Amino acid sequence: MAGEWIEGKAKTLLGIFPGQWNEVAPGVLQGHCPGEEYHSAGGAETDCRIYLTYGADGKQPGIYCFHQKCASVLDALNQSFRGALFAKDPDWKPARSVNEGVVTRSPRAKEAWIPDYNEAKLRGITNALQKVDEAWFMSRSRIDPRGLPPGEFLEHAFLPGDRVLVFSDFKSQGDYIWQVGKGGYRLAEERGVPAVRSAVPTDGGENGIWYMCNPVDGQWHINPRRQGMYSRRSLEAVVRWQYMVLETDVAPSALWLSLLAWLPLAIIAIYSSGGRSWHALTRVDMASKAAYDEMLRRVAKRTLPILGADPGAMTPVRLTRLPGCTRAGNLQKLIYLNPRATSKPIFQTFPIRDIGKGWNA
Ligand SMILES: [Zn+2]
Repeated sequence: MAGEWIEGKAKTLLGIFPGQWNEVAPGVLQGHCPGEEYHSAGGAETDCRIYLTYGADGKQPGIYCFHQKCASVLDALNQSFRGALFAKDPDWKPARSVNEGVVTRSPRAKEAWIPDYNEAKLRGITNALQKVDEAWFMSRSRIDPRGLPPGEFLEHAFLPGDRVLVFSDFKSQGDYIWQVGKGGYRLAEERGVPAVRSAVPTDGGENGIWYMCNPVDGQWHINPRRQGMYSRRSLEAVVRWQYMVLETDVAPSALWLSLLAWLPLAIIAIYSSGGRSWHALTRVDMASKAAYDEMLRRVAKRTLPILGADPGAMTPVRLTRLPGCTRAGNLQKLIYLNPRATSKPIFQTFPIRDIGKGWNA
């Protein structure tokens, strides 16, 4: 059937839509609207539908709500969903299909030994904590996050001389590079063409601006996992196994922020996706790729997914949002930056800055 390949791919991309979804017809899911807070008249479980393939009436795959005021939220979700759905991605492989009627977590394929998300456990842990919000983190941020330009963020987060790949097109090989202490360069698409000095873009259009979470050497390498194609962003290019990114497809935003305040991990930075999801850049300082993999296998992927962390994001070559840039007009907002963070939980630290009530940019 013509739409079949789309539906299979759409199911694995479902994580783009926050919330829980019930399959009410083949390829049609129903649930609460992710933009519910914008509704003028509350929300119900029947408000919203996701079409995983073309609807009978020619409706495009995407999310549709009964209400009007949430349109901007849904438009942004549909943009990224359709962008990923129809992208010509050489890494794309169909995942095992999710046949259960109720989709309770991101159906992205994962290894069987990785535990499932358990919201009761997450609630159990975060219940004991005071409610934390953006201002709470900003008041504890070692560096004032307000208005920090993306280049300065990278200067703080990385070491002198480090090169960090920046992407305005996340399917590219990195279209910019930031060298700490020197600044930004625009990279050519082909090998052998020199980089030219350039600011890193801050307007990310519809898709935002990304950076790769570990520093690279800036050279092309043959990637043996991709038929020997040259890559600037593969494991071969990584020079230090310093960071891991924590993000969630499944945990409610407020609980996730509470968890980030509680985790005994060296969280360097917390910033938004330009929507309501929060990414945490976490220092792990592994000595090698093998040590990094071991850490993932024995610790990170065995524990953190229970609390909502996406195991798929736990890779040393993860692309993550570059704070200070915009996505669809929304700021990829930095709320916490502490380059010398230790594993002392953030909730055990005191406010160091007064965040006035007036600040809501
Ligand atoms: Zn809605």
